[in-house]
Parts: sequence; structure tokens; C-alpha cells
Amino acid sequence: MSDATSTTDSLTLAAAARPRHDWRLDEIEALFALPFNDLLFHAQRVHRAHFDPNAVQVSTLLSIKTGACPEDCKYCPQSGHYSTGLGKEKLLEIEKVVEQALAAREAGASRFCMGAAWKSPREKDLGAVLEMVRRVKALGLETCMTLGMVDNDQAGRLAEAGLDYYNHNLDTSPEFYGEIITTRTYADRLETLGHVREAGMKVCSGGILGMGEAPRDRAALLQQLVRLEPHPESVPINMLVKVPGTPLEHVEDLDPVEFIRAIAVARILMPTSHVRLSAGREQMNESTQALAFLAGANSIFYGERLLTTANPQAERDRALFAKLGLHPERRDTCVDDDRAQANVETELARRAAQQAAALATELTYDASGA
Ligand code: SF4
Repeated sequence: MSDATSTTDSLTLAAAARPRHDWRLDEIEALFALPFNDLLFHAQRVHRAHFDPNAVQVSTLLSIKTGACPEDCKYCPQSGHYSTGLGKEKLLEIEKVVEQALAAREAGASRFCMGAAWKSPREKDLGAVLEMVRRVKALGLETCMTLGMVDNDQAGRLAEAGLDYYNHNLDTSPEFYGEIITTRTYADRLETLGHVREAGMKVCSGGILGMGEAPRDRAALLQQLVRLEPHPESVPINMLVKVPGTPLEHVEDLDPVEFIRAIAVARILMPTSHVRLSAGREQMNESTQALAFLAGANSIFYGERLLTTANPQAERDRALFAKLGLHPERRDTCVDDDRAQANVETELARRAAQQAAALATELTYDASGA
């Protein structure tokens, strides 16, 4: 065994035993530089120390308010700064959100994530958003929201309504950040994550790779995530989806091997976090996804749409899970199963009654019009 490998061996074993927040950039870069097989071996070893290696947490994501965002994130089709042809939608009705949550539960999701394209939530919308959290949580699903920046008060109210996770990504390294977003600062993002923590919610935060960043930026992004105390419970690692009309439409592709390396390094640095193989999965073949799971990814989005970009069909995901012998991680919820089941039945009964009432109105209308 070479000196470099044995040093990494003791580093990763120590990381598996005790999560660190003080990883130096050169240590992280040294992990990235390991021979690929060694890196995956270390990552898999750390992964197995904390998780069932064949369990994958499954979330479903719904866009509850789409497009016309005032922010200028260069990768995002929802930014009002770019013409991507994306239709705008106002805040969805609560009933529609609950309907989608029921379908997600039926399809095996354990967490339901709701995303709104806002700079930050407006007071006039917050009431409906809080009600969505209460109703979705009552179905026995974990709840997650991404609504832009939140202050202390908003974070506290979301937590009180029962929100389990708040997603707010750091996106990239502090050094490269200005190339991608100019309408909010890195410090703004860290401040929102601080409010989320203070309110007692779990943090979901990660980044996007393949935006033209240098290898050092990928290491520096992970270093920023590692500095958060505690580490984010959920770390989405996204591969850029190049959407026509956005400024990053023609950026050079990132080699999938570099993407897998980032997953493996994230796994080693944040041994108890769920590392999510997130946006960009549609463009990945099965072998790349299998390598990502081997590197320590243990969470995915499941469903047909990922906010506004395509996500592999649920059927294809099921087939891939079967091929790899993976299974969905059991949902971990504060609502007991019996109560959740009763709430699901109430929602289904309410829905059936609404449909019957709508049908009766239609028939009455037809009869009187005849
Ligand atoms: S990533 Fe979020 S904040 Fe940025 S433009 Fe898109 S919706 Fe707005």
C-alpha cells in the first residue's frame, strides 16, 4: 500500500467515525486526486459504516409556483431574466398540492418537496404555504420546501407548521459564485441556512456541477458544506441541465467520472448525510447512476418532473432499483402510521365526494339544457 493510500485510509476511517467540519482544501483536493478505484473503495467503506448500502431515500418534487423568478441564476429556466419559453404558474391551490402528495405517497415516496420560484416568500402567500406543510405532513410524508431566502420569523413559522427540511443550495464555491448569480450573495445563502437551523429544521443544501467551474471550485463547494455545523442532513449533488435560453446553454459537458468523484468525496466528508443524486439524472445512463450509488449516493428524486426539467419516469427508476437490488428507504415520520393512514383515507373520501358533486352538477346542467 502506498503512503498516500494509507494516509487516506486513516483519514477516511477517522471521517467515518467522527464527522469533521475542519477539512482543509488541500485534504479535499487530495481525495479528489485519488485513483478512482481507491476513492470509491473509501467512499463505500464510509457509506457502509452509517447506512444500509442498498437503501435509497426517495423524494418527490413538485413546483408549487413556477417561473418569473427575480433572481438571475444562470442555470435556471425559471429566472425571469432569460427567455426559455417556460410557462409561468401562480401558487398552486392547496388541494392540488395534496392530490400530488397523495400520488407521490402511493408511488413510494417518503418525502414530498415543494419548490417555489421566489426571491423569498411573500406574507400574502405564507398562509397557504403553511397549510400545504400541515396537510402534506398529515399524510405521513416528510415535508421539504424551497422558497428562496427566509428570515428568522418565516423559518420559525415553517418549523411550527411541521416543515421537516428546508432546501437552499450553495450552488458552487464562493470564488465562482459571482459568475453564476449576481442578485443574491453567498453570505445571504449562508444566513438563510442559519435561520433554518435556528428554527430547528433539517438542512438540505448542495450544489450544481458542470457549470464551467474549475476542479478546485468543486472541492471548495464541498468544503463550505462541510463547515456547516451540523452537516446538512441532505446534500443534493446536481449535474447541470443545459436548458436552451439560459446563459449556460452551451457550457462544456462535465466528464461523468468527475461527477462520480464529487459524489464519493461528498460521501467521505459528510458520512451521515444523505447524498442525493439530483438534477441531471435524466441525462445519465444506468451505468453512471449505478456508479453514483456505489460512490455513496443514497437519495433520489422520483417522479416525472423535477421542478421544470424532465426526470426519468418512475417506471424506469423501479426497473433500475430492481436491476441493482436497491430498495426505497423506509419513511421516517413523526406522524404515526395509523394516524397517517386515517388522514389518507379522509383525503381520498373528500376527493371522491368532490368528484361526485362535480358529476352531479354536470348532469343537472345537461338535463336542464336538453
Ligand atoms: S434557482 Fe431558484 S432563485 Fe434562482 S432563478 Fe431559479 S427559481 Fe429563482
